[in-house]
Amino acid sequence: MIKVEEKLFQNRYRVDAGRPHVNIRQPDVCAHECKTQQCTVCCPAGCYTLEGNGRVVLISDGCLECGTCRIICDEHRNVDWEYPRGGYGILFKFG
Ligand code: SF4
Ligand code: SF4
Repeated sequence: MIKVEEKLFQNRYRVDAGRPHVNIRQPDVCAHECKTQQCTVCCPAGCYTLEGNGRVVLISDGCLECGTCRIICDEHRNVDWEYPRGGYGILFKFG
């Protein structure tokens, strides 16, 4: 059986250097006000990482553009999200 990680590895991703399409608006809100930090467990691509000091780091390379993080950050609305510019972002490989 093929694992999800192996399937994800088959996708290709073009990074738009310096112009991430997902951003955390206020990192301090993640660190001090968000009790559940659900983005760190809900992102299927593992773009959000919880650091030892309680801060959340977002690296959007490899983002699947599923929109989950924007939806689940419902209490604080702390995620800025837009589709990448044309030619950048995820290139799904099906099959
Ligand atoms: S769910 Fe939203 S507020 Fe909470 S850690 Fe993630 S991005 Fe920050
Ligand atoms: S859009 Fe989906 S894959 Fe991209 S960072 Fe948000 S949850 Fe992760």
